[in-house]
Amino acid sequence: MRTKLVVGNWKMNMTTIQAAAAIESCVRLVDAKSNVDVIICPPYLSICKVRELLRNTHIKVGAQDVFWEESGAYTGKISPAMLTDAGATYCIVGHSEMRGRFGATDISQSTLGYFSESDQTVNLKIKALLFHSLNPILCVGETMEERESGKTDDVIRTQISEALNQIEPAEMFFFVVAYEPVWAIGTGQTCSAAEAERVCALIRSCLDPIVREDVRVLYGGSVKASNASELFKQPNVDGGLVGGASLDPGEFSRIVMSA
Ligand code: PEP
Repeated sequence: MRTKLVVGNWKMNMTTIQAAAAIESCVRLVDAKSNVDVIICPPYLSICKVRELLRNTHIKVGAQDVFWEESGAYTGKISPAMLTDAGATYCIVGHSEMRGRFGATDISQSTLGYFSESDQTVNLKIKALLFHSLNPILCVGETMEERESGKTDDVIRTQISEALNQIEPAEMFFFVVAYEPVWAIGTGQTCSAAEAERVCALIRSCLDPIVREDVRVLYGGSVKASNASELFKQPNVDGGLVGGASLDPGEFSRIVMSA
């Protein structure tokens, strides 16, 4: 039996002071006795503070990205060892906002280059995280254009197989995969529960049989308290990756309760 998991991705929101206030509310509102795992992924600068405030709770801390090198002349980058040092135990990789897609048309070509994540860099990041015993939260998902041209399943299969290239199944027990259709992220447009279930089951079928029943597969994309329970009821949806709604501790705690 997989334990349900709800991950909050704060994206580029909250100063350290705002983060501390939000965490204090979260700790008050999220039931300590619930058997749902919870992870909060704040911006890098707040990881230490958030970790300190969550020390005696069951809520864990994750990062939103990582660079794969150990150290060196990589201005602006953060290594896995730095994440461990700050107190993170999970890390999101391959988020569509990092894959340079942003629904493909939302931002200009000149800006896209800053977000040039590829399946290959996702794979390097996963290997670096595992080397440091950090747990990856791998995001996969199709754009609306890919969905409309019937490519959803192929896109998902390719993203999974490239991301997991040369990774031993035995290293994957604490892996998390999030199905995040790009067209549903931050748009208010949610995937139907039946389609989320279908794609999450497809993701599970792409995993090695050794870990297939252990890896948690989440749904992400405009999850709110009002749609969470229908989504989380699906047998292959083990919880959610929540962006915008995780910034409101009341809404976030209601999503956790739905799980
Ligand atoms: C996300 O950022 O991973 C996400 C799912 O965002 P939102 O919930 O705002 O759609």
